[in-house]
Amino acid sequence: MKTAVVGAGMAGVTIARQLAGQGMEVTLFDKSKGTGGRMSSRAWQGGWIDHGAPSFAARTEAFAGYLRAQVPSNVYQPWPARVRGVPNNDELVGYIGVPRNSSITRSLLGAINFQPSTRIAGLEREDNRWLLFNDGETLLGQWDLLVVTAPAPQTLVLVRGIPELEKQVQQAEMEPCWVAAVQLTNPLNEGAEVMIDPAPGLRRIIDNSAKPGRNNNGVYLLQATADWSQEYLEEPPEQVGARLCDLFGQNFSPAQRPQLLFAHRWRYAFTKKSLEKDFLWSQGLQIGICGDWCRGRTVEDAWTSAMALAGKISGES
Ligand SMILES: Cc1cc2nc3c(=O)[nH]c(=O)nc-3n(C[C@H](O)[C@H](O)[C@H](O)COP(=O)(O)OP(=O)(O)OC[C@H]3O[C@@H](n4cnc5c(N)ncnc54)[C@H](O)[C@@H]3O)c2cc1C
Repeated sequence: MKTAVVGAGMAGVTIARQLAGQGMEVTLFDKSKGTGGRMSSRAWQGGWIDHGAPSFAARTEAFAGYLRAQVPSNVYQPWPARVRGVPNNDELVGYIGVPRNSSITRSLLGAINFQPSTRIAGLEREDNRWLLFNDGETLLGQWDLLVVTAPAPQTLVLVRGIPELEKQVQQAEMEPCWVAAVQLTNPLNEGAEVMIDPAPGLRRIIDNSAKPGRNNNGVYLLQATADWSQEYLEEPPEQVGARLCDLFGQNFSPAQRPQLLFAHRWRYAFTKKSLEKDFLWSQGLQIGICGDWCRGRTVEDAWTSAMALAGKISGES
C-alpha cells in the first residue's frame, strides 16, 4: 500500500517507521530541510544549537523502551541537567540527542524515502487515492493512504473541505514561542543548566553548551513566555533577539553584553488546547492525523499519538 506522511517531526518519523515496518511503501514529506520539526537543531560554526525542544522526558516505560530498542545508544542519552525552578510536564529534563536533538529523528528515519524542502499545499481525493500537490501546485503523486502530522493550524489548511476532520482539528489551539540563541565570553556560573522562570518575559534559559557534542562554549537558549512571544509575534527576529538579549543581560550578565547568534519564531510551538484524543482517523477516506496536539504538548505525546494511529491503521488494513 502506498502511504504518504506529511511532517518529519517525532510523530511523522515514528508513524512512517511503523507503517514501513508493516510492509507499506512510505514517502515522508517535510517543508524543512531535515527531520526533527520542533525538536530541530541548527548547525552553528561547526557545532550544534538545539533551538527547538532542548530535551524531553520519557514518562512511560513504553516510550523509554521504544527509545532503547530503536535508537542506538550513541545517538541519544540521558541529560543529568541541574534544574532551578519548577518545570511543567513539557519541561521535564530527560533525554537529549547526540550531537544534536534531531539526531534521534534522523536515526529513526533510517532508509525511509524522505522528501525534504517539500511543503504539501493541497490534497485531492480521486478514485480512492490521495493526490498531493506542493506549493507550486505541482502534482507529487498518488497515494492509497495519507497521514498528516503538522501542527493543528497547518493541518487545518490541508483538511479544509473534509467536514468530519475539519471540525475536530479546529478545536485545537496552539501558542507561539520566540527563542534566541546567545553567547557569552565568560559562561554563567549559576549552578544550573536549566533555569525556569528566570526573569519576567523569560520562561526558560538552557545551557546549550553543557550538552555533550554541541561543540560550542557559553551558548544559551533563551525561551520567551507564551504571552511575551504573542506580544512580539510579528516583530523581525533581530529586534526580538535584541529584546531577549536585554532581558537576559539585565538579569544575569550585567558585566558583559550577550552576543545574539540568532532568534527563531516558533509560531505553533506548544499546544494550548489539545483534542484529548490520541489521533483522528477516517477509515472511509483513508486519512489519519496525529501529533502532540491531539493529546498533549510533549515529544512523548507526539510519539504516543503516532504509535496509537499506527496501531489503528494496522488493525484495519
Ligand atoms: C522552543 C520549544 C521548546 C520545547 N520544549 C519541550 C520540552 O522541553 N519537552 C518536550 O517534551 N517538548 C517540548 N517542546 C514541544 C515538542 O517539541 C513537541 O511536542 C514535539 O516535537 C511535536 O512533534 P510533532 O511531530 O507532533 O510535531 P512537529 O515537530 O511540529 O512536526 C511537524 C512537522 O510537519 C512539518 N510540516 C508542517 N506543515 C507542513 C506541510 N504543509 N508540508 C510539509 N511539512 C509540513 C513541519 O515542518 C514539522 O517538521 C518544545 C517545543 C518548542 C518549540
